[in-house]
Amino acid sequence: MSISSPSALGTAVAGIERVVDDVAEKLRTLHDHLHRISAVDCRTVEGGLDGQETPREAHNGDMGVKSDRPRPFWMPDVPDPEARGEPPSRLPDRVDVAVVGAGIAGGVAALLLARAGASVALLDGRAPGRGATGRSAGFLIRGTADHPDRLAAAIGRERALALWRFTADSVELLVRLVDEERIDCALRRDGGLVLALDEDERRSVEASAGFVREGELWSAAEVEHRAGFVGATVGWFRHQDCVLHPFRLAGGLAAAAKRHGACVATGVTVHAIEDGPGGTTVRTDRGGIVAGTTLLAVNSALPMLEPSFRDTIQPVRAQMHATAPAAPGTRLPWPVYAHHGFEYWRQEPSGELLFGGCRWAAEPDRECGVRDDSCASQGVFDAQRAFVGRHLPAFAALPVTHRWTGIMAFTPDGLPLVGAVPGAARRLVCAGWNGHGLALAPLSAALLVDGILGRPGASPPEMFDPGRSLG
Ligand SMILES: Cc1cc2nc3c(=O)[nH]c(=O)nc-3n(C[C@H](O)[C@H](O)[C@H](O)COP(=O)(O)OP(=O)(O)OC[C@H]3O[C@@H](n4cnc5c(N)ncnc54)[C@H](O)[C@@H]3O)c2cc1C
Repeated sequence: MSISSPSALGTAVAGIERVVDDVAEKLRTLHDHLHRISAVDCRTVEGGLDGQETPREAHNGDMGVKSDRPRPFWMPDVPDPEARGEPPSRLPDRVDVAVVGAGIAGGVAALLLARAGASVALLDGRAPGRGATGRSAGFLIRGTADHPDRLAAAIGRERALALWRFTADSVELLVRLVDEERIDCALRRDGGLVLALDEDERRSVEASAGFVREGELWSAAEVEHRAGFVGATVGWFRHQDCVLHPFRLAGGLAAAAKRHGACVATGVTVHAIEDGPGGTTVRTDRGGIVAGTTLLAVNSALPMLEPSFRDTIQPVRAQMHATAPAAPGTRLPWPVYAHHGFEYWRQEPSGELLFGGCRWAAEPDRECGVRDDSCASQGVFDAQRAFVGRHLPAFAALPVTHRWTGIMAFTPDGLPLVGAVPGAARRLVCAGWNGHGLALAPLSAALLVDGILGRPGASPPEMFDPGRSLG
């Protein structure tokens, strides 16, 4: 470049400044990107799987830097699954009920309240379904984490049977809501399969099928023939089990609540709930809302808003991966739940295998206490691939396209917390599903709604009383 005059010099300097600014901006973006990568749990990794290129979204602007975040299979069109939702310009000053958390529990509660004519605000720090619900496997199956006979040994036969019936009713309620509100969440009721992997679990599964008087037992050979699984000791096929698209379910519940008049406010983080003359005041990063009642449906985040539950709710991270579609002849029509629920998988009608579990491979704590759902464990992923290789040969060679995690909430006795915070009748909690929220949450939320509306009838089972854990 030749510089022939002072004005040409000024123009050249301005041009150089623009280039420097541009480079500085790009370095800042790169720095942010590297910071995010280094900020993840040191036991976790991101990126290509088994040397394969993981499809990712380029959404970091003109740098073309790819996202480092694992992407849930259910959210292909969501630019950043971790991102906050879009906050509304203004929150309502006052509502009958504030529901915090737009997963399945909060979504069902807000929908039923709005349908009954109550004024409702459904608040979530992220968009609906980006918590555990939209990251789950989407199994809508009866029962809890333990096989029913083991649960009976722990809490008594009568209560275990009542819990089984509770989940059966809860599943029916959700199926009905999906139908009535025409929620497009690919709900299918083709049945489900529970597998035992050793002799001890075989006895437990056989006893459970007899105890709840449901379904049919398949021999190991039948399991291999019908489900392509090598190495089961028995299979328990249950006709009423369902699967659905959990992210679309959560979005559909929130949209239906909105249609019935609820204010759905995403990108709004709740910091505290205070008791006051109008009932409760919900303190958020967008201002306060006076609510006659507040229902906390935040699952693993409950202790942050109700610290008295800090020793009761334990966050536990679960992890899944998805593969490219299998060849047309390989079809598994049912969700499968194996090894006391430590492994579970399903195949989409389009052929992809979705596999979850193996958190036992994460040393030393099996992912207990882990709250970060923006990354995944390499050890768990390796164990998952080894399991698929050993037991599901038809799927073993398929390339992995997605992997992701979500945070569950466990309680010491394996039962949820559904009811009022002790000493605070206007603050309700609905959480602690021990990995089975899709089946447990709908009826739990519905019974709390009945209580809020003063409807006579059933209340949540006594064994769900949140006060039991607080002594
Ligand atoms: C990988 C995986 C697979 C699973 N598979 C199954 C399955 O197949 N079947 C099954 O029944 N269960 C399954 N589960 C468990 C199930 O996902 C949960 O039990 C259920 O989704 C919990 O629903 P929820 O509405 O209580 O909580 P969430 O869906 O986690 O919703 C809570 C919401 O609260 C919001 N929130 C939290 N704190 C705040 C705050 N301070 N302010 C504002 N918003 C806040 C969060 O952003 C979140 O959206 C699985 C879980 C995982 C992680």
